[in-house]
Amino acid sequence: MQKGSKVALVTGGARGIGLGIARRLAQDGFAVATSGRRSAQDAQAGLEAIGEFGEAIYVQADVADGAARARLLLEIEERFGRLDVLVNNAGIAPRIRADILEAREESFDEVMNANLKGPYFLTQAAAAWMIRQRESIGAAHRAVINIGSVSATMASVNRGEYCLSKAGVAMATRLWAARLAEFGIGVYEVRPGIIESEMTAGAHAKYDALIDGGLLVEKRWGKPEDVASAVSVLARGELPYATGALIVVDGGLTLARL
Ligand code: NDP
Repeated sequence: MQKGSKVALVTGGARGIGLGIARRLAQDGFAVATSGRRSAQDAQAGLEAIGEFGEAIYVQADVADGAARARLLLEIEERFGRLDVLVNNAGIAPRIRADILEAREESFDEVMNANLKGPYFLTQAAAAWMIRQRESIGAAHRAVINIGSVSATMASVNRGEYCLSKAGVAMATRLWAARLAEFGIGVYEVRPGIIESEMTAGAHAKYDALIDGGLLVEKRWGKPEDVASAVSVLARGELPYATGALIVVDGGLTLARL
């Protein structure tokens, strides 16, 4: 790592939107750490795709597991010695899309733990470290960027737990923005709409038809790179005096029209 290089952690950065973000931040000059539940071997292709642009490591760590979160930060500290940007991207959809009249508590717990509790407490631990770095490394732009979802406000009655988790992420962004501003740490939400990734692969035909039918103002699927562009602006500190800001990247999906 070049001396003085900034370091970003992108959870779930070995594929999908997270991989798009990790590649973009590497292009921007960040050393990048990524994480996920999969083995290092299964993350190798993603790691190499990031490595084209800069230094990158992968740590196997389930964001829902407190001990794994602590180990993740420790490994970054040992390898890079600092953390400037945390991108809370890792997330899951429910395994089964079930009507909220029937959906099961196990799915609720699984989705909430991965999408809300995990990032909330990872932010807590990362922020504590960033605050300590102000003394050791000095004041610099530091940021926490949460990947939310249009599901924070759009009700899907067959995946209520997902909607609730993302509504929680929106509030977590506000809470941490209010708490961390005094330490020079900006906290933001980037809110994607319908983005092409493995998460949406199963519903591709459904979304193709909806997009064709005029669901979006910008008539195309979103790409991981679209989300990555917004994250890049925030990670580089190009949006000063805007902590708590929400950037919507949804091609106009949530634009109210008459
Ligand atoms: P993918 O399913 O393609 O990728 C999810 C990533 O998160 C994988 O790298 C996965 O790695 C990781 N991950 C999942 N659960 C955990 C966990 N418990 N601990 C650590 N890593 C985990 O999804 P997307 O790229 O589409 O989604 C990324 C984010 O964007 C999510 O938060 C999602 O909710 C959000 N989003 C996506 C939209 C879309 O249309 N695709 C729209 C709006 C928001 P591994 O399997 O190794 O654990």
